[in-house]
Amino acid sequence: MKIRNSLLLAALIMVGLGSVASAKVLTIGMSIDDLRLERWQKDSSIFTKKAEALGAKVFVQSANGDDNAQISQIENMINRDVDVLVIIPHNGDVLSNVIAEAKRSGIKVLAYDRLINNADLDFYVSFDNERVGELQAETIVAIKPEGNYFLMGGSPVDNNAKLFRQGQMNVLQPLIDKGAIKVIGDQWVDSWLPEKALQIMENALTANKNNIDAVVASNDATAGGAIQALSAQGLSGKVAISGQDADLAAIKRIVEEIQTMTVYKPITKLADKAAEIAVGLAKDEKIESNASLNNGLKDVASYLLDPIAVTKENIEETIIQDGFHSKESIYSN
Ligand code: BGC
Repeated sequence: MKIRNSLLLAALIMVGLGSVASAKVLTIGMSIDDLRLERWQKDSSIFTKKAEALGAKVFVQSANGDDNAQISQIENMINRDVDVLVIIPHNGDVLSNVIAEAKRSGIKVLAYDRLINNADLDFYVSFDNERVGELQAETIVAIKPEGNYFLMGGSPVDNNAKLFRQGQMNVLQPLIDKGAIKVIGDQWVDSWLPEKALQIMENALTANKNNIDAVVASNDATAGGAIQALSAQGLSGKVAISGQDADLAAIKRIVEEIQTMTVYKPITKLADKAAEIAVGLAKDEKIESNASLNNGLKDVASYLLDPIAVTKENIEETIIQDGFHSKESIYSN
């Protein structure tokens, strides 16, 4: 009896040790374009919290807008043998090789928010970015159905920037064809930097003798730069201007009536969903998709969330209700 018991105990210990060895903690490497921007800080902290709650460990690195830094940070994560790479690319056109290297090492790759072109991605999670552009143009057009329009695109190497523009043009093109709207300038802002947007707007105002009725800006950071240039000419509040991200500064400008709208993208939904997908990929589970986007190499299974247009009228039931920003932070100086 004693012998049988100790044999049983030994067997149990071995089974136990075996499962400890196989229950390796899942690791996720999160490579972020630029953590200096408010938007991405939110994404990374919500993502990490959710992934940890699901039992994974997350390593985060920010490339601060530098392509080479991003590539070497990803290489470093491959060497650490992470299970999944979650990438917010700075430049959606330069990561094919390093992603091929990851795939050869058996690592799953999830593109987060921005698509990566010509790369063997496992999945893409984002918002419906073409819809973002439509919401921007629809809101501006409702206020300025005719006049001189300036188009301010985002970073030329960000695939999203192209999708935003496509959405904007879905709305603007028929009005351009009708002659109601005249596009008097069209420029893209490197790395989405506000200071570059400021310069571009200053030059556009000079070139057009301040004769601009609306600016279709693709996000809040660039809208902020443009509004600074408009203010210097006494035009802020007179020129309709769009944005995106519901940055706190932008919501304050909307309340002040110097920015017309922003597009609110509930980041918690995106980051939580991405964490679930990343952990699912690590466990080889089948991931539910609701869209498919071609990245030049393949149709990438995707999950896209809905963006929401926000003007002064619906800040309360969107941004505040979701706790994205508190009422106090919006209305305090
Ligand atoms: C994101 C925007 C963001 C921009 C600049 C885009 O890819 O979708 O939300 O404002 O990058 O960071």
